[in-house]
Parts: sequence; C-alpha cells; structure tokens
Amino acid sequence: MAKSVLSAPQFHNEEAAFAYVEALLWPNGPTCPHCGATEEQIGRLQGKSSRIGLRKCYACRGTFTVRMGTIFEDSHLALHLWLQVIHLMCASKKGVSTRQIQRMLQCSMKTAWFLTHRIREAMKDGMIGPLGGEGMTVEADETYIGGREKNRHRSERAVRGGVAGKEPVLSLVERNGRVRSMHIGRVTAENLRPILVAQIDDASLLCTDEAAQYRRMGEDFRHEAVNHSADEYVRGPFHTNSVEGFFSILKRGIVGCYFHVSEAHLHRYLAEFDFRYSNREKLGIDDAARANLAIKGFAGKRLTYETTRFQA
Ligand SMILES: [Zn+2]
Repeated sequence: MAKSVLSAPQFHNEEAAFAYVEALLWPNGPTCPHCGATEEQIGRLQGKSSRIGLRKCYACRGTFTVRMGTIFEDSHLALHLWLQVIHLMCASKKGVSTRQIQRMLQCSMKTAWFLTHRIREAMKDGMIGPLGGEGMTVEADETYIGGREKNRHRSERAVRGGVAGKEPVLSLVERNGRVRSMHIGRVTAENLRPILVAQIDDASLLCTDEAAQYRRMGEDFRHEAVNHSADEYVRGPFHTNSVEGFFSILKRGIVGCYFHVSEAHLHRYLAEFDFRYSNREKLGIDDAARANLAIKGFAGKRLTYETTRFQA
C-alpha cells in the first residue's frame, strides 16, 4: 500500500476523521439516532469543552455523534486510528496480523485483537439473497483451513476424522462477482446440498469438481462437473478456476498472517477475505472505495466485546 494514501488528513486529524465518516454515514445530513429527526432539527455543539462531532437534537433534546449506533461506539480508540486500521485491512490482499495493528497503534494485543474482529464481523454480507442467476455461473468447492498440525491435540484429530485437525470451508464464487465462504461440518452431500440450494439462485449454472458430495446437484441446478482426477480442469466454460483462485488468496493470507486461527473465529476471517474479494479491484473497486464500503456497512452494526465473544 502506498504511504501517500495514509497521509490524508482523516488518518491523522480527529476532526477530519469525523468529517470523513459523517460524509459517508450521513450523506443527507445528520440523523438523530435517538428519535430519527433529520438535519433541520439538529445543531452542532461547538463549545470549547464539547467533544468533536457532538450534535444536539432539538426534537428529543438528546446528544450524539456519528459514532453512535455503529461499531465505533463503545470504543475509546480515536476515529482517525480506526480509519487507519480499516484502510489497512481493506487494502492488503493477504490480510493484516494482529501484531501489525498492535505495533501501529501501540496498543495491547487484546485491544488490537478485538478491534480487528469487530471490523471482520461488520464485514459480513449477511448472506442476503442468492448468488448467481440467469446466465450466471457459480463455482462451488471446499478446502481445509487449520492451525499447524503439530499444535493440534491428538484426541481432537481422532474425533474430527477426515483431514486431520483442519476445518472444512465451503466457498461459492459467482464468476466475475462475489464470494461467500462458510465454515461447515463434515463435507457430505447431506451437509452441502441445503447450503447450495439456499445460497445459489437455481437459474445459475453450477460448476464443481466431480467429488461425491456434488453428484446429485443436477437435481437442483444445471450442473457441470470437471473431472480433476482424470486431469480435466477446464472444459469450455466449465471449470472451478475462480474458486480455486480465491482459495489460493485465502490460504496464503491465513497461513502468512494469522499464526493460529481457532475454529471459533474462523467465520470472521472468512468474512474478511470474502469482503475484499467481493469488492476487488477487478470489479472496479479500489482500496479507498473498498474502505468506504466497509465504513458504510458499519452503520447499524454496533458490536460490543460480548457480541464478539458470544457470536464466536
Ligand atoms: Zn432526537
């Protein structure tokens, strides 16, 4: 990432950071989070002792800032520092380690950890509406993500079976579009089929490999499987190159950046990689635009320490 990007005022000056976030979250002027009153009933409190960005609502007499009701609430971290972290996480294709954030902010590892996980949680797309559609192709495949084998307890391996100590992840990639990844149980047709049916528009062409778990997908979709075991990787438009490309980014990122991704938090790392891929350069979204999309998505996603913990 170019250093020049982070020299913009919103990354260093708290007032500029507030102005930046307000422009994104309040495109039509401030809205009172207490009563919903709009611009004409809201004034800015500008006394010397007033906090930056503080507004007063003349309808309900409440006060607020743009942080209220977003993931920025309940955090003592200055907004310009939040913006630095969000930019870094949105711009680095392979992810950012907790230690990098800790060094950058000179905060504790715990603070850095919760900060990055709040951002990851807020990056989730909510899986609203199916992927694909008429004339579109969706590729499905699964991979295994896990900590280092030698760090895993033997009994855990025995219980899990399958690929020792690793967690199965299913990714659905809309060709030239978005991706959705899920941490799943055992890779079986019974587990995968309801997910595919729920997440993929049935007018789509579904491309997979020839694995047994996809064998009956033709009952729900127009389905083409490429026979990897027979060295067939591409048959005209039928291939899984997009989802495999996504897996290579995911795996390099997870292995390179996150020393150990525990099973409980895997879904949030997946949300982070999905978010960047679904809003990638190739689709016309540059680093700054991607960070702005993330910030807009943070409205209405207030996450406390407890939500982060209990959703794990
Ligand atoms: Zn109000």
